[in-house]
Amino acid sequence: MSTKIDVFGAAAAIAKGMSVTLKEMLSPTVTEYYPDEPAKFEERFRGVHVLQRDVNGMEKCVACFLCAAACPSNCIYIEAAENTERERISGGERYAKVYNIDYNRCIFCGYCVEACPTDAITHGHGFEAASYNTSTLIKRKEDMLAPVPAGATPPVVEPERPAAH
Ligand code: SF4
Ligand code: SF4
Repeated sequence: MSTKIDVFGAAAAIAKGMSVTLKEMLSPTVTEYYPDEPAKFEERFRGVHVLQRDVNGMEKCVACFLCAAACPSNCIYIEAAENTERERISGGERYAKVYNIDYNRCIFCGYCVEACPTDAITHGHGFEAASYNTSTLIKRKEDMLAPVPAGATPPVVEPERPAAH
């Protein structure tokens, strides 16, 4: 009697397993054709960082250093500078004159994104960062800065005026 139950149990298990196989065989194919076609990512994919601008084209980063403090790999380097009447780069008092991320050390943990109070740093979907030359893996602000939004006037930097005599 117990042998009969074992046989029925095994047959039921095989049928259940094969039903999964059959279901997968009939579902649509999800093959990625990268690099012939662009790769598709989930929204939450953590790729190379993007430094965001606000709707007016100003840089969102106010050089508060919270992202650098949160980074467990110590791979963010920032130099802050003051905004002035003539040179306004961000909406805050300061902006990041230098903002580097060393992708030799970044582990894409997202802590910097979580720590940022102005949503200035985000993960983009860039992933083609591999290189034989490690010095090219240090990305600068200029490499990561989002383009000025359509219709926004980019920050104007007035040239230095000669001092009056
Ligand atoms: S993703 Fe993580 S490791 Fe990379 S820069 Fe941000 S905090 Fe540092
Ligand atoms: S990216 Fe965000 S957290 Fe980092 S310095 Fe700029 S404003 Fe501060």
